[in-house]
Amino acid sequence: MKIICIGRNYTKHIEELQNERPSEPVIFLKPDTAVLPKNMPFFIPDFSDDIHHEVEILVRINRVGKHIEPQFAHKYYDEIGLGIDFTARDVQAKLKEKGLPWEKAKGFDGSAVIGNFISKSEFESLQSIHFELTNNGTSVQTGCTSNMLWQIDELISYVSQYFTLKIGDIIFTGTPEGVAKVNINDVLEGFIEGKQMFRIQIK
Ligand code: ZN
Repeated sequence: MKIICIGRNYTKHIEELQNERPSEPVIFLKPDTAVLPKNMPFFIPDFSDDIHHEVEILVRINRVGKHIEPQFAHKYYDEIGLGIDFTARDVQAKLKEKGLPWEKAKGFDGSAVIGNFISKSEFESLQSIHFELTNNGTSVQTGCTSNMLWQIDELISYVSQYFTLKIGDIIFTGTPEGVAKVNINDVLEGFIEGKQMFRIQIK
């Protein structure tokens, strides 16, 4: 299974990191070893002093496909989830400066939180899913898929031009604004439309 992540998919997050607005989706991968095992705490790694949370809507692929047209993309997933793309922002800043790949900052062990999934039939529209991340009970990130630069079906189509999608692959669809550092003893909880999808302790 592979994890395909989209960067810079929400305007306000692009602005907060002072990034350029992309003309095509930004894509990077996380290895399967990045998945944080269920019910395990997240341990801040020694190589970073600035781990950020990025809460993101997830899509789980349920059919093999490549070169998928946007109008058929909906046939390749039937569940929507929520997760965190943990990012070593200090490491990423150094890599970005040199134009180097982001893997060390984005693909390290435990960097992919994959919470629960909800059948997409439970949503009135996938283009207006509200989600939220709280830290110790305080709301830190809220988002709505209506603010995505590229919607889920467009992302699937785009990604599948480069990577064959396989059953079980997960797409992280990008984070809205509000990314911030996590600290030891933080408890992060993620919600879709008010329903809890994960709870992670930071150690
Ligand atoms: Zn992200």
